[in-house]
Amino acid sequence: MECLAIWNKCNNKCLMCSNPSNYDKWGDYGLKNISSRIEKISANEREVYLTGGEPTIHPDFFKVMDSLKKRCSNARIILDTNGRMFCYDDFLNKFFNYSNIEFQVSLCGQNAALHDKITRTRGSFNQVVLGIKNILKLKLNKSEVEVRVVIHKLTLFSLKNIYKFVSNDLMGIKRLIFIFMEYEGMAGKNKKTIGVTYNEVGPFLEKIFRKTKEAPFEIRLYHFPLCVLPPKFWPYLWRTLPEKEITFLPSCQKCFYKNYCLGIHRDYLRVVGGEEFKPIKKRINLKISDNFYHPIISVN
Ligand code: SF4
Repeated sequence: MECLAIWNKCNNKCLMCSNPSNYDKWGDYGLKNISSRIEKISANEREVYLTGGEPTIHPDFFKVMDSLKKRCSNARIILDTNGRMFCYDDFLNKFFNYSNIEFQVSLCGQNAALHDKITRTRGSFNQVVLGIKNILKLKLNKSEVEVRVVIHKLTLFSLKNIYKFVSNDLMGIKRLIFIFMEYEGMAGKNKKTIGVTYNEVGPFLEKIFRKTKEAPFEIRLYHFPLCVLPPKFWPYLWRTLPEKEITFLPSCQKCFYKNYCLGIHRDYLRVVGGEEFKPIKKRINLKISDNFYHPIISVN
């Protein structure tokens, strides 16, 4: 997959953003520079991940989309977005020209009070909810919507309500992802306000996962090493962090399931420490896939 960061600005100011506070001062995100990066992508590329900042507020966003579709016409575009621009009809309607897009939309809460507190942007909740509903109405060919919720101190107590809100109000999405926060960029700076540990999260996931068999969408968990959750959660875990951001402790060498474990985010070890990670020495009956990113299919 090719990753293309196309803009260094955002219309939200999320407390858990993993970008540093001054990232809007760096880099060249002009159309000429982006076009030359697009030219380097293989014409046979199958997936291009479009990110930022917020990619949809790039002044030449649709020119970037058109160049990408021209360069690698069969590639699926994965769009990492806060979803707000999709509340505007003139922006939305331009998407009728496209297909084969995965919309990955961030949601920070089940209501405006929580979502807008985290994005520090009044009105962002109403815009993203309308945006998601609008994208779903487009019914673009070979396209789907994924909703992403970052787990941190401010969302922890609301995870069940966020799950309920998504189940009841955002019918038609393909999947709901719960992502454990990263302690980098703005999130690292805001650790006193939003910092959370793996041990704190487990009991809240238990409450959601009592209901997940009825979920009208797929559920995934990102950024969790195996040993911080009971085995019944393992089939929901995906390995999505880049290799350079993770590490293992010396004690991990004794763990029976290291080969299927994501590892530990380096920033988590630096900020929180390694006390929670204990090698698993009990044999568990697992069904294993050949998908590196989703190694455990089921636990008996
Ligand atoms: S002990 Fe290490 S390898 Fe084993 S599950 Fe925990 S983090 Fe992963």
